[in-house]
Amino acid sequence: MPTYLGLARTAQEDLAAVQTYISKQGSGWQDIQRVFARVAKMFALYSESYAEPGRMLLRASELEFAQAMYRLYDSDANYLRYKNAPRKPGYVGCCPYCGIKGSMTVDHYLPRNKEAFPHFSVLSANLVPACSGCQGHKLAYYAPSTGRVVRNWRRQVKSIDRLQRPYRFRTSEKRILHPYFDRCLAEQVLIAHIEIDAGGTPSLVSITPRLNLARSTRRSIEFHLERLHVLERARGEVGHLHNAILKGIKGVLTPTELLENLETQLASAQSRGGSPNFFDALYLRALILRKDLHSQLLHEAAVPKAELVRVSQVRRVKIPARRGRR
Ligand SMILES: [Zn+2]
Repeated sequence: MPTYLGLARTAQEDLAAVQTYISKQGSGWQDIQRVFARVAKMFALYSESYAEPGRMLLRASELEFAQAMYRLYDSDANYLRYKNAPRKPGYVGCCPYCGIKGSMTVDHYLPRNKEAFPHFSVLSANLVPACSGCQGHKLAYYAPSTGRVVRNWRRQVKSIDRLQRPYRFRTSEKRILHPYFDRCLAEQVLIAHIEIDAGGTPSLVSITPRLNLARSTRRSIEFHLERLHVLERARGEVGHLHNAILKGIKGVLTPTELLENLETQLASAQSRGGSPNFFDALYLRALILRKDLHSQLLHEAAVPKAELVRVSQVRRVKIPARRGRR
């Protein structure tokens, strides 16, 4: 099980914390008590409705409540501290949206901004650890019908009233996957394709969903990867990861030993993050499958890096020495 799944608490726990906070405030919060039951209901429904967020917009009359909830996120009250949990790198180490290692920030899956879903500002199910890359590409996007959220919150609410029905999103497509609830992410759903050139430089050709998945699952995963620019960012990590793997196979001499070693590295990568879709696990799996690259890998691991560096340094030193003699 991916480690990040341990972060989601129950809606009741979050509500209890919010209730405690409200009860300690003075007047001005009574109005908020009035609509509290409605938001309690929304909290409870989140795990079923996050994919159809149009069902969870507040009414214009609840704007004040929304703003109060928005402010709660900035509170440093002890019983609201759980909202910072996704920031602790020890929990994940890899971003559950893209699978790349990095430092985590807190992403509101349904955007927290005042025009969107401020009432989910402190709902832990809505708080997902995310790297800055994913944050930057996701922004306030949450579903295809609206693209980014409508800037004017009141107008958005009115337009829903006029339609007399909530937005209906096709839940399986064109939506960023939710790491806590889109359970397909707990399975191995991605495959990486790699190449290593004659000089030993690795490159990432593609990251694609597995072929045996349902068509709609494949399409939503493809959309997710594309929208968050996962491939481009993973390409930037390949060299670093490859070197770390090479370090791990130092001293390995035979193809059989190599295979065992890579399997062990894969097992430890998976137990670290708990997710088979994190990039280090994907890359190791790709290496294991590419048996044609194994002899080259053994060669790379056998040649000490320092020796390669020395050769290039000698070349660079020789040229100015000749010029100096003229
Ligand atoms: Zn990410």
